[in-house]
Amino acid sequence: MCAICGCENTADEKSRSAAAEPPPPDRNAAGSAHLSVDGHPEHNRHRHSHSHDDQELHVHSHGGDEAIDFGAGLAGIHLPGMSQERIIRLERDILSKNDAFARANRSRLEAAGIFALNLVSSPGSGKTSLLVRAITDLQPRFAIAVIEGDQQTSNDADRIRATGAPAIQINTGKGCHLDAHMVGHALDQLPLAARGVLFIENVGNLVCPAAFDLGEAHKVVVLSVTEGEDKPLKYPGMFAAADLMLLNKADLLPYIDFDMTACVEFARRVNPRIEILTISARTGDGLPAFYRWIEKHAGGAAPLAHAPA
Ligand code: MG
Repeated sequence: MCAICGCENTADEKSRSAAAEPPPPDRNAAGSAHLSVDGHPEHNRHRHSHSHDDQELHVHSHGGDEAIDFGAGLAGIHLPGMSQERIIRLERDILSKNDAFARANRSRLEAAGIFALNLVSSPGSGKTSLLVRAITDLQPRFAIAVIEGDQQTSNDADRIRATGAPAIQINTGKGCHLDAHMVGHALDQLPLAARGVLFIENVGNLVCPAAFDLGEAHKVVVLSVTEGEDKPLKYPGMFAAADLMLLNKADLLPYIDFDMTACVEFARRVNPRIEILTISARTGDGLPAFYRWIEKHAGGAAPLAHAPA
């Protein structure tokens, strides 16, 4: 999870942390990692090492290149004013609570025979366009509902509702991922048909959503061919967590330099069992294979098909 960007510093977390421990030193104190206006550390400006409480900030430059690794502790990360041990405690605490909510969501979904997919990707990979098309194609066969995750706006939920499918928008504010607790609240509000399909469109982010189980049956990672073939190597956690990779925007392949063979090899290097389908949400090419994948994987756990009215 992203401890570097402080994505877990929600109001609850801040108040709990403040109660448990003294306030951290001024982040802008000399030598500390400074925060940019969007909350991310501008570490690149500070290649020195210095002490923070019980930890040192280690910045390693690799031989002639510009790559820099932060942190030498157990978590490999560092926050000003936080020890590595405390970061690990926070992560364990957050993830164990999330897992409890995820188990509850999963039990609830399985009891109702609902097949849930958690769609994850970078921003702009085409998740919402894919869902709009898939819902339009699949609605005659399956009852479908959607949970949309974005930091702000209800634009995506509005697009989904225009298909006739029910959708709940979750705005995470500064949060960079959905968690199982949020999804549980959405399940309370969503008119879920038994034996239907639930699509959860996560916040666009290839890092943090990998760590959060939402109670879904599968994570599906959407990678658009415009993003570059090396994303699986750059963000291996996400591709390791996913059971299916959809290579979207394939209609653009004639116009861009995208090495499909390398991309598939990279994805299988981090996850030998990942299934891969090439699709275009715009043209519809490859989508029947995705629909067959849904039927195949939902079929055992949930008898999806119900006759059209
Ligand atoms: Mg979207």
